[in-house]
Amino acid sequence: MLFESQQPHINFANWGQIRKVPPALVYSIMVFTPKWQPVTQTVPLLIPTQEDLLAFQQGTLSVEQYRSNYTNHLAHNLPSLPPDALLDSRGLLVPSGAYLCCSCSKEKAFESKCHRVWAAHVLKEVGWLVSVDGEVI
Ligand SMILES: [Zn+2]
Repeated sequence: MLFESQQPHINFANWGQIRKVPPALVYSIMVFTPKWQPVTQTVPLLIPTQEDLLAFQQGTLSVEQYRSNYTNHLAHNLPSLPPDALLDSRGLLVPSGAYLCCSCSKEKAFESKCHRVWAAHVLKEVGWLVSVDGEVI
């Protein structure tokens, strides 16, 4: 078991890591969730803006600026991010043990060029126990 504490915990992963996770615990944090994913829930506050994503993909927004815009957005919404406040796209609390997913490789996440890592560090600050790609941070 990854977490022994009773403190609410949350996991960040890519789609390849969640095949054995009950679908009810899987959430997308992507602007465009791949059509082949059976996931219907998202966590809207953790999704980057479409504008920033496209600018980053087109090379007109640096990874540093993308990260800065994204973490500023989270900083402005800090009261809505703790375990007793974070809501999914249905307006339900995101449960302890949930997996929040994007498509980036572990390598990209390890290099901190993926927003799941940026979100993970912010959620850790507001009271979640957090894992990224199977490692507690
Ligand atoms: Zn990512």
